[in-house]
Amino acid sequence: MSSMQESHSYTASISDVLLPELHALYPKPITLLTYNNPFELLVKVMLSAQCSDAQVNKIAPRLFEAYPDARALSRARVADVARIIRPLGYFNTKSNYCIQIAQSVLAQGGVPDTLEALCAMPGVGKKSASVILYVVFKKPALIVDRHVARVASRLGLAPGDASIPKVETSMALCCKREDWGSISMLLNYHGRFVCKARTPLCQSCSLNTHCAFFNNTDS
Ligand code: SF4
Repeated sequence: MSSMQESHSYTASISDVLLPELHALYPKPITLLTYNNPFELLVKVMLSAQCSDAQVNKIAPRLFEAYPDARALSRARVADVARIIRPLGYFNTKSNYCIQIAQSVLAQGGVPDTLEALCAMPGVGKKSASVILYVVFKKPALIVDRHVARVASRLGLAPGDASIPKVETSMALCCKREDWGSISMLLNYHGRFVCKARTPLCQSCSLNTHCAFFNNTDS
C-alpha cells in the first residue's frame, strides 16, 4: 500500500512527499481573488460566498471605484452598494456586510490579524478569516473549502465522508502547522484543475501512487 493512509506518520509523508509533488505542479499558488490591499481582499472574500471568484473579480472593481477605501465604503448607502454588487447574489445582505466590515476595519485602524477579530465581522466565517490570515499576514491557517475537503479525503488525509470541519480537524492533526496555508492553497488548486469533483483525472495525476482513492483503499 503506498497511500498516505498506510500509517499515521502523516506529518513526515506530507512534508517529504506530498508537498514537494504539489509544489512542482503549482509553483506559486495564489488566491484567485485579485486585490490591491488587505481591505479589498477582505471584502472580496466575503462577497465570494455562493458565487465564483471570477464573478467577484469582475464586479468588485466597480465597488472599489465608487468606494476606494474603508472610510468611503463605511459611509455608503446600502441601496447604492446593492445596486453595484447585485450580480453576485444575496446583494442586500452582502451590501450590509460590506458597509459593516468597512466600519469595523475603520474602527480597528486596519484589517485585524487574528481569527477572533476577523470572525467577529459580519459575513466573515472561519474559512474567509483563514484566507486573510495566511495570504495577508502569512500566519499558519487551514483554508478548507469544498475543493480542499474533497482532495484531502481522496488522498486519505481525512475520512472519506468527513464534513468540512472534520476535514479541518484531521488536517490540523496530520499536517505541520507551518504547512497549513501552503497545503490548503495547493490542494485547492489540485481540486480545481486535476482532482475534479465528478471526473478526477487520476490516470494523469502525479499524486496517484500516494492516493487512497486511486489505490482503492478504505478512507
Ligand atoms: S489520483 Fe485521482 S483522486 Fe487521487 S488526488 Fe489524483 S486526481 Fe484526485
